[in-house]
Amino acid sequence: MKYHSTNGPALQIGFKEAVLKGLPHDKGLFFPKEIPTLPADFFAQLPTLTLPQIAVEVLQPFVTPDLTPEALKTICEEVFTFPIPLVEVEQGIYALELFHGPTCAFKDVGARFMSRCLQAFAEPDQPVTVLVATSGDTGSAVANGFLGLENIDVVVLYPQNGVSPIQEMQFTTLGQNISAVAVEGSFDDCQALVKQAFADEELNQKRNLSSANSINVARWLPQMVYYFHAWGQWKKQNPAAEQVTISVPSGNFGNLAAGLLARHMGLPVTYFVAATNQNKIVPHYLETGEYAPAPSVCTIANAMDVGNPNNFPRIQELFGQDLEALKAVVKGFWADDEEIKGTIRLVHQATGYLLDPHGAIGYLSLRQLLPELNTPGIFLETAHPAKFKESMEPVLNQEIALPQQLQAFTGKQKQVTDMPNDFAGLKLLLMQEHKEGTL
Ligand SMILES: *Cc1c(COP(=O)(O)O)cnc(C)c1O
Repeated sequence: MKYHSTNGPALQIGFKEAVLKGLPHDKGLFFPKEIPTLPADFFAQLPTLTLPQIAVEVLQPFVTPDLTPEALKTICEEVFTFPIPLVEVEQGIYALELFHGPTCAFKDVGARFMSRCLQAFAEPDQPVTVLVATSGDTGSAVANGFLGLENIDVVVLYPQNGVSPIQEMQFTTLGQNISAVAVEGSFDDCQALVKQAFADEELNQKRNLSSANSINVARWLPQMVYYFHAWGQWKKQNPAAEQVTISVPSGNFGNLAAGLLARHMGLPVTYFVAATNQNKIVPHYLETGEYAPAPSVCTIANAMDVGNPNNFPRIQELFGQDLEALKAVVKGFWADDEEIKGTIRLVHQATGYLLDPHGAIGYLSLRQLLPELNTPGIFLETAHPAKFKESMEPVLNQEIALPQQLQAFTGKQKQVTDMPNDFAGLKLLLMQEHKEGTL
């Protein structure tokens, strides 16, 4: 597969190069030159295939020839080691639970896949520095996925007051090849700093930078796998049903872009919902045709506090920059903090199911839109509710137990470098010699 930039067809590079580069120099995003369609018998078999089997089938065309079929199979078997169950919350509404991985968020899938690709591609004498901005869950998934890998350093940039305490513990206490930088600013500021770092030649020569944000194709593409899996599981439970809507709680829009790419490969999902918190850039665009990135607003669904969604150009590219075509498939929805809290409380009371603040928006979007769309619905449960313990417990008036994966982080020592929102400062940090766990 060749990849070009969403800013123009001139550049053509392979998977390996796209993974190592992260971003093209023209500030676009890498995008596959062709989108293969999968055969009918693949869809017929889907309900019986395992996640690694689905992954190999779906991803092979995107990684050939840089990963052999055997190498891809090994990676997929190492990545998809945890279940991704489809759970019926109530009649016609299902949760796809993406939080059973090592850091309890869907980002484990992309981060683990990317870490194995980078390891396969990195040159032994050229250490790579992975620079990543996080709104909470990317940092932990990437840090966990890369921890202890030789020749790869990870630097996590995060908004100082923008992530939950458990999220922060997950990437500030690991040491070894993982460093954390708390930026006095928002997630968008962190993301802008990362972009600036990539554009800085001197820095790139010194550190051999690679990006692990969802803009990297090795994080973006494997997210398709669980949409195929979800549809297969749904079909198993509803063999006669034809139409279905999938709601995707979105911030940077990598996850939704992966779902839509899966649809272009033939996955028969009728509609998608672009579900956001008050950072409603995309729902607003779908409603009015005006695309207006804005400074991000802090919400209790903090992993979606994004005012300038980085992956949206990929969605535009998929639909040929045609707003009407996009609107025929993707429906917009957004909710504020009070609606999120009310939904968490109500669903817990009525069904016993514990939504997290992000999944709650997905659930609520289905409750409101399905009567009109006239299909059953699946929403993505993107993180474990215990990651947001501090904001959830007052809503439910009860304690939430930490799953085993998260218990491991409590009581550990944080190692963080604080920094103003300023590129010169970041550059200085990255140019100096790095020590374990502190850059
Ligand atoms: C990252 C994240 C999202 C948003 O995903 P995007 O791919 O950035 O749209 C939603 N929910 C949770 C819990 C996340 O960590």
